[in-house]
Amino acid sequence: MEDGWAVKLIGTSPDLVCICTDGSIAFINEAGTAMLGLKSAKRLMGRPFADFIHADYLGIAGGLLDGRDGSADSDLFPLKLKRSRGKTIDVEILAIPYGEPDDKTVIIRARDITDRVKTFEDLLVIHSELEDRVDQRTEELTREIRVRRKAEQELLLAGKIIENFNEGVMIFDRDMKVFSINPAFTEITGYRAKDIIGKKPHFQKVLEENEELSGEIWQALDKKDRWQGEFWNKRKNGDEYAERLSISAIADESGNVQEYAVVISDVTKRKQDEEHIRFQANYDALTGLPNRTLFMDRLAQSLPAMRRSETNLGLMFIDLDGFKLVNDTLGHNVGDQLLMEAAGRLQKCIRDGDTVARLGGDEFTIIMPNLADPRDAPLVAQRVLDALSKPFQLQGHESFISGSIGITVFPDDATDPNELIKNADAAMYRAKEQGKANYNFYTADLNEQVKERMVLKNGLSKALENGEFSLFYQPKLKTMTEEVTGVEALMRWNSPELGMVSPVRFIPILEETGLLVEVGEWALRTACMQHKAWLDEGLPPISVAVNLSARQLREDDFVPLFDKVLNEAGIGPEGLEVEITESMLMSDATRAVEALEEISAMGIQVSMDDFGTGYSSLSYIKRFPIDTIKIDRSFVSDIATNPDDAEIIKTIINMGQTLNRKIVAEGVETEEQLTILREYRCDEIQGYYFSPPLPAEEATAFLKQSFKDVA
Ligand code: C2E
Ligand code: CA
Ligand code: CA
Repeated sequence: MEDGWAVKLIGTSPDLVCICTDGSIAFINEAGTAMLGLKSAKRLMGRPFADFIHADYLGIAGGLLDGRDGSADSDLFPLKLKRSRGKTIDVEILAIPYGEPDDKTVIIRARDITDRVKTFEDLLVIHSELEDRVDQRTEELTREIRVRRKAEQELLLAGKIIENFNEGVMIFDRDMKVFSINPAFTEITGYRAKDIIGKKPHFQKVLEENEELSGEIWQALDKKDRWQGEFWNKRKNGDEYAERLSISAIADESGNVQEYAVVISDVTKRKQDEEHIRFQANYDALTGLPNRTLFMDRLAQSLPAMRRSETNLGLMFIDLDGFKLVNDTLGHNVGDQLLMEAAGRLQKCIRDGDTVARLGGDEFTIIMPNLADPRDAPLVAQRVLDALSKPFQLQGHESFISGSIGITVFPDDATDPNELIKNADAAMYRAKEQGKANYNFYTADLNEQVKERMVLKNGLSKALENGEFSLFYQPKLKTMTEEVTGVEALMRWNSPELGMVSPVRFIPILEETGLLVEVGEWALRTACMQHKAWLDEGLPPISVAVNLSARQLREDDFVPLFDKVLNEAGIGPEGLEVEITESMLMSDATRAVEALEEISAMGIQVSMDDFGTGYSSLSYIKRFPIDTIKIDRSFVSDIATNPDDAEIIKTIINMGQTLNRKIVAEGVETEEQLTILREYRCDEIQGYYFSPPLPAEEATAFLKQSFKDVA
């Protein structure tokens, strides 16, 4: 830098002027040297300018000094520079790049602004002094108010400040008598002064009903003079609302609590919002059904109760078949509508206490606690399938879907909620694999049972027309003479798929499907015709017993049927006997008695079957036109080993004789049993000891043989 006017100018400038190359001082004027607190410029040469910048400002200023920062020539900005002996000086600085960018040279100008800063700081001090004074005054005022409040308590409590509170205020004394409230209190609670002044606080009932809460409040007031909290309360008109309360104990000068001040606000809206959030956390927004979270909760909560009461719980997973297609082709709106509609239909399929939940997508689940019999689950499943198979009307489109259902049962299949879920899911997938629109049990053997039922059902629907039913006949004999008195006709089903099927397995299904009426009529006709055939063959008249089921008794043409069948076969009523059970009479007693009385009046014999297994009582027998009592097999089988059973049989026999009824023991298998029954003077016996039920031809041979013996 040449000497010249510019240098002179710089030399006389009151501002700091300095040239820095690569951040280090290459030139500095006199004023600059003085500003940094030094006498000679020499000691400054080559030192980084940054050394003189106050640490707080290095961040902003650092980049400007080496000239690389393009913004270096922008604005003046305030800065603190360090002087010797730890002093600082406030300056306003300007940095201008000089020469080529590669030169890394900047001209720095700094102006002392100490005076300006001082003025500002003075202002701040004045301001804060003012604030202090205001605070002080406020405190004085508050003190004054406090003093005045003590003096004119009532006046002030009812005074203007409280009048204008948004919060409700209520003051009550040590005797729990309210003596002041404000308008906001009335607005929130509905209680006006005349309703509550001199009476108990408006939350008295809440405290009475919740001793724990009441204890907590009084304890807090004792210890801390203050309690804060929330509870549900009732407005004067009975509406529930949530209130937030702050109760403070107010003591007099000597520290004795004289009053309690209560500040209340209505937080119902916030509470409702919280509940709304809780609802959102537990319920599916689209369908309003419980979501996966709540489903898991309910499942986990139900299991211990089921365990205690030793009851089954059914869990069903339902996946909508064909939902994806609707969603993809008709759009999400239509898809959503379908899900809502499906959810509604599912809810109609369940019993009280069951839970339908949406797990997500098109997956639903049903929890069925208190499932009396696991085999009831398919009934619900079938209802669900039926409900889903009906067409869906969706924004002008008719859509069809179906459901695939997996079922699992607690505790048979699993006892852990996650296991159950896995089971139901697996079963559901198998249902899908098996062609959808059906249900599938997780349990292998339950699955088998249900399947068997299906097979039986299908087979039975054609059994009658295919001539697969036949009657076997089991002889009945006089206990003393072993003379044959009759036979019982027992049905058999010869299924092409299953072979010979026991009536124990297929009669319930025939009853359920309603086929029994037709099949029962066939049995009655067949038995009568067989009887006729035996008479035609010259055998002596015996009695042929046919088993009836409840369904038949309820048929309108039950009685005319007997007339018709006897006529067709050409035999008299005395050779026909019907066997009924007690449970049949229980269901519709009046109807049953009427029907039985009519056929009894026709001369047909009536037997009470399986006696001892139901609600057997003397009064029952007396009420019905019963000619014969058949003691259930279960008593006979233990007669020789179980004195109780022997006693029961003895009682039944004595009772029957008193009532003038014939007693038949069924299921007699051994000579021992026969001996005992003889001793008890049982009238007739039936059982394997003499003969199992026989096909018609063999029964004919048996009869011929036995009558020949007698003759
Ligand atoms: P039920 O009326 O109590 O028939 C007696 C059952 O005991 C028959 O079983 C018979 O085979 C069996 N039994 C006879 N003697 C003995 C014995 O000494 N020991 C043992 N262990 N069992 C013996 P089945 O033929 O299997 O019939 C079962 C049930 O099916 C019958 O019980 C009856 O309730 C029903 N049933 C049979 N045929 C008909 C029918 O045509 N109509 C209706 N509604 N029910 C029928
Ligand atoms: Ca029977
Ligand atoms: Ca029986």
